[in-house]
Amino acid sequence: MPKTQPQLFTIATLGSHSALQILKGAKDEGFHTLAVVTPQNERLYSSFAFVDEVEVIPEYSHFPKLEPKLAGRKIILVPHGSFVAYLSLREHKAMTTPYFGNKAVLDLEADRMKQRDWLLRAGLKMPRQFTQASDIDRPVIVKLYGALGGKGYLFVKNADDFSTRAAKLKQQYIMQEYIIGVPVYIHYFYSPLTGKLEIMSMDRRYESNVDSLGRIPSADQEGWDLQPSYVVIGNQPISLRESLLAEAFHMGEAVVRVSRELCPERGLFGAFCLETIVTPEAEFFLMEISARIVAGTNLFIDGSPYSYLNYDEPMSTGRRIAREIKNALLSNSLEMVLDQSSKLPEFYLADLESPGVAISGPGVPAN
Ligand code: AMP
Ligand code: AMP
Repeated sequence: MPKTQPQLFTIATLGSHSALQILKGAKDEGFHTLAVVTPQNERLYSSFAFVDEVEVIPEYSHFPKLEPKLAGRKIILVPHGSFVAYLSLREHKAMTTPYFGNKAVLDLEADRMKQRDWLLRAGLKMPRQFTQASDIDRPVIVKLYGALGGKGYLFVKNADDFSTRAAKLKQQYIMQEYIIGVPVYIHYFYSPLTGKLEIMSMDRRYESNVDSLGRIPSADQEGWDLQPSYVVIGNQPISLRESLLAEAFHMGEAVVRVSRELCPERGLFGAFCLETIVTPEAEFFLMEISARIVAGTNLFIDGSPYSYLNYDEPMSTGRRIAREIKNALLSNSLEMVLDQSSKLPEFYLADLESPGVAISGPGVPAN
């Protein structure tokens, strides 16, 4: 049962990944909030005061079936990594609930070849990619398709090692040159309303077991059949050497610019992350782009050193998304921040004429 009558615009998301950050940010910006959860998560999400409502579904993959129930409400969905992990691209794109972001970018992101083309066209350096096992002439990482949080990735030393361990893989994968360096994940926000790019925060991932292998001396590892694995367990904050910051900013700008050439209607906007490894020569190698909020931003619910440079208040990426939606509502340009599949009911449009009834809180004029 809803705790309050939902008359305000509601920001909704799946209860996982970065949902707490997104909904806290939405509440801080004056929205009503809805978490769509599985039964085991219901008590957790209901326990937070900023979660106004929870809707329980048996599994996250059932989410599209909830659409008819959401259709009569002033809902805006904010997607995160679990949307990609638990819904197919087709299901995801077929949904018509108003959706923050541009789904066209998902096609570029989901196909590793298209993604590589995008990043290379933006002038970014990427690890060398191998198509034939016989070409492998250096250590590589074998990466399965899909947002799996590093699950199932293999470190392969050479071509022989590949044929004994990786040749039998059933899923689609890519083979990438293994880059040794510091993994730096840079979280950006690009505003379609102002055309401005912001660096929101940064993290480095903590992965099991690769980040723990250094705890055992290499001499003691000898003779032990120990393989590194890359399953993400958590995230650690990092601040970048300031002399590298300009390049990090330019990389974000280039990715946004090229996305507009590849998806001419609009390109990438909102939150995104460039996942890099920085070598001893201080070169950024791009492993991947995530075209949405990433979980590493959860470190910064109270803002980051970088967001503090732009805002005098705690500004998480989740809150920044809600702020953008609010600014769009207040300037009568909601369609600029929503995917084109978004179906806005008639009454929804009428409410846009007087945003004061739609949201409450700081910065919103009273009716
Ligand atoms: P979950 O809902 O926790 O299963 O997460 C969905 C997907 O998001 C996972 O498959 C991961 O790819 C990614 N993910 C979740 N948590 C994190 C994290 N803390 N850091 C990086 N990626 C994550
Ligand atoms: P990804 O799914 O691309 O975010 O990769 C997950 C993890 O695998 C990264 O955080 C790295 O630890 C590792 N990784 C991915 N690509 C490479 C690479 N080319 N070289 C070294 N490590 C990599």
